[in-house]
Amino acid sequence: MTDPADLAQRVREGELRLYELEDHADAETAAAARRELLAAETGVDLDAIADYTFDAEGVDANVENLVGGAQLPMGVAGPVPIDGGAADGEYYLPMATTEGALVASVNRGLSAIRAAEGATARVTDSGMTRAPVFRVAGVAEAETVVEWVRENTEQLREAAESTTSHGDLTAVDPYVVGDSVFLRFIYDTKDAMGMNMATIATREACSLVEEETPADLVALSGNLCSDKKPAAINAIEGRGRTVSADVVLPREYVEETLNTTPEAMVEGNTRKNLIGSAKAASLGFNAHAANTVAAVFLATGQDAAQVVEGANAITTMEVRGGDETDADDGGDLYASISFSSLEVGTVGGGTKLPTQSEALDVLGLAGGGEPAGTNADALAEVIAVGALAGELSLVAAFTSRHLASAHEELGR
Ligand code: NAP
Repeated sequence: MTDPADLAQRVREGELRLYELEDHADAETAAAARRELLAAETGVDLDAIADYTFDAEGVDANVENLVGGAQLPMGVAGPVPIDGGAADGEYYLPMATTEGALVASVNRGLSAIRAAEGATARVTDSGMTRAPVFRVAGVAEAETVVEWVRENTEQLREAAESTTSHGDLTAVDPYVVGDSVFLRFIYDTKDAMGMNMATIATREACSLVEEETPADLVALSGNLCSDKKPAAINAIEGRGRTVSADVVLPREYVEETLNTTPEAMVEGNTRKNLIGSAKAASLGFNAHAANTVAAVFLATGQDAAQVVEGANAITTMEVRGGDETDADDGGDLYASISFSSLEVGTVGGGTKLPTQSEALDVLGLAGGGEPAGTNADALAEVIAVGALAGELSLVAAFTSRHLASAHEELGR
């Protein structure tokens, strides 16, 4: 067997490069050799990083220059009943985080939702996007390209879909800026988050555009997609799953579980999440939706950088029902959260890794759904309900001024 120390020495002597170790040893040994080198060069003991549970051979699609694993504490919130378009039943929410008080906060919100017999959730749109940018001579040529695309969407669909057995091209939206033409390709990627799938399919369609029009491809991603960057286009047009969740909490549950009143919740939501976010010109009008999104993304093997788009959410609250003439009948709290661009998958990416796929199994959503796309839809709905719980709990904490004490007790 190859000795990791020998391999590390050969890298040190310049005979091998760090990324070539798998050509000379199995993945486990190559990772050990890199740790050996890193430990010698930095003086850091890497015992904890060496203590990982996934198969080193199986992660080459997820990482290069493997040295080990990064662990995060995982908690669970729930259970919560969900009446979804795809989600149906009671769910425990696995959350990986280092923020003390987060799981407790979501759990408290879920308790209130559970007392109200659960939340409703629906995915209302689904579309992963890739938007290549092409160079043209000027606006007249740009018009020629746009017209060709509009008249030949069927041909583009055939080209794009020739690369995938699951993905469907649903639209191609052209945008012109002077001598640049952007084509925003939109795909139904079923249970895959779909960024690789959409990129590969779009590359094929771009070849056709270049063959049939004067356009020259400059970049397969022209940033109008828009991946992993805060962008209004995702907040308005959607990307990945567009999903909403809502609940009506009877007044007594607001008082008993959240220690506040529907009126105080509505005022807190309006002044903080709506007016404050508007004044800040924020894309997300919510309290901390990204917290739940990030924790479930990390637990279930989603692409963590897409928490950026996952923060595009609007939280609303209002008092419903009640009788103004009856002091004992003040009405209940309606609360909702709507994500425009929640990019999730239950196949592909990091979802196959052992802890991540176990967490998806806890949700009953690992792998492809039946029919395809329903598992990823259900995951989006579950995350939306978890985030709604987080909103209820945090707004309640602000309005009842418990936030600092909760963090003091749980997070420090
Ligand atoms: P992927 O792991 O590249 O591909 C998933 C594949 O699973 C699909 O293409 C599909 O194959 C297959 N599949 C099997 N059952 C399926 C089902 N029920 N529904 C849908 N597909 C099914 O994953 P991806 O979601 O396309 O891309 C995610 C990865 O892209 C992540 O690792 C992420 O970090 C990375 N990423 C890439 C880019 C980029 O620009 N390329 C950008 C951001 C992130 P067929 O297509 O053959 O049907």
